[in-house]
Amino acid sequence: RRVSTNEWRKTVADPQVCVVVGGASGIGAATAAVLAAAGHRVVVADLDADGVTTAIVTGGGSGIGAALVRALVAEGAYVVCADLDLDAASSVAAAAVGPGTAVARRVDVTSAAEVRAAVDDVVADHGRIDLMFNNAGISLLGDTEDLTLDQWNAIIDVNLRGVVHGVHAVYPQMIAQGGGHIVNTASMGGLMAAGLLTSYVMTKHAVVGLSLALRTEAASRHVGVTVVCPAAVDTPILDKGELGPVRGRDYFLKGQGIKRPVDPDHLARKVLAAVAANRAMVVEPVQARIAWRLGR
Ligand code: NAD
Repeated sequence: RRVSTNEWRKTVADPQVCVVVGGASGIGAATAAVLAAAGHRVVVADLDADGVTTAIVTGGGSGIGAALVRALVAEGAYVVCADLDLDAASSVAAAAVGPGTAVARRVDVTSAAEVRAAVDDVVADHGRIDLMFNNAGISLLGDTEDLTLDQWNAIIDVNLRGVVHGVHAVYPQMIAQGGGHIVNTASMGGLMAAGLLTSYVMTKHAVVGLSLALRTEAASRHVGVTVVCPAAVDTPILDKGELGPVRGRDYFLKGQGIKRPVDPDHLARKVLAAVAANRAMVVEPVQARIAWRLGR
């Protein structure tokens, strides 16, 4: 089983215990078996201690986050489906099918304390946090002159501070445990500009910058960082054009030169593949990026 750093310190300090590092397979496993047969107390220490990857997905109650929860459970992970909306998170967690487990938790990412408590509980129960998906986000579509200061602050709180809270809570823990991976959901709007989305684009550019900068220094600590920059994805956020008469779905599809929004489950599979390959960025679909670059 996975153990906490403190428990590990006590274990290796115990003169009665034999510790076999790399003991889950091959020569290490054979060594552990011989020692155990000889009557020694043996602790098998291995990266693959129990085979269960632990993950937290914020905004897991809907859209891309829900798809990430489904994909992770299908891969056998233990996943905390964290969302402001506990009912939505519970439905997603209950419906996820696979060898893994999903548990719902109400987490408001604008609260550093709530994000930290979710991370601390996973570490207390499982010894480590392998994957952190800072995915929760809101959009604000409309004329910038109509934005109130409260709206500017609200989108900064969720889309930017929410990601900072996640990074701040997991990064030192991941360094201490010897590795992990942080995935931040930005947007195509984090790579390019789009009118009527000024505040959203600002937060997403910041998330891209945070992610790419962190990635360069985290690599030497065995922590991977991936930033996800999708064009329009088929989720409820597309219909949340809170401001002005412009309907989000039409605006996004036309602006990005794509006929159909991306399927969230397809995107989630791409994201997990990018994590496995430790890629810096996921941009999906490629034709949207090209169209946007050409200024269509
Ligand atoms: P969605 O609206 O379907 O899901 C967002 C989820 O985040 C909801 O369940 C909501 O309850 C939750 N949430 C909102 N505020 C929260 C808070 N303070 N704390 C915790 N949870 C909170 O939207 P989605 O499309 O799945 O969006 C997920 C992420 O993907 C967002 O960061 C969004 O900006 C980004 N994104 C979406 C698209 C798209 O077209 N759908 C494109 C690019 C980027």
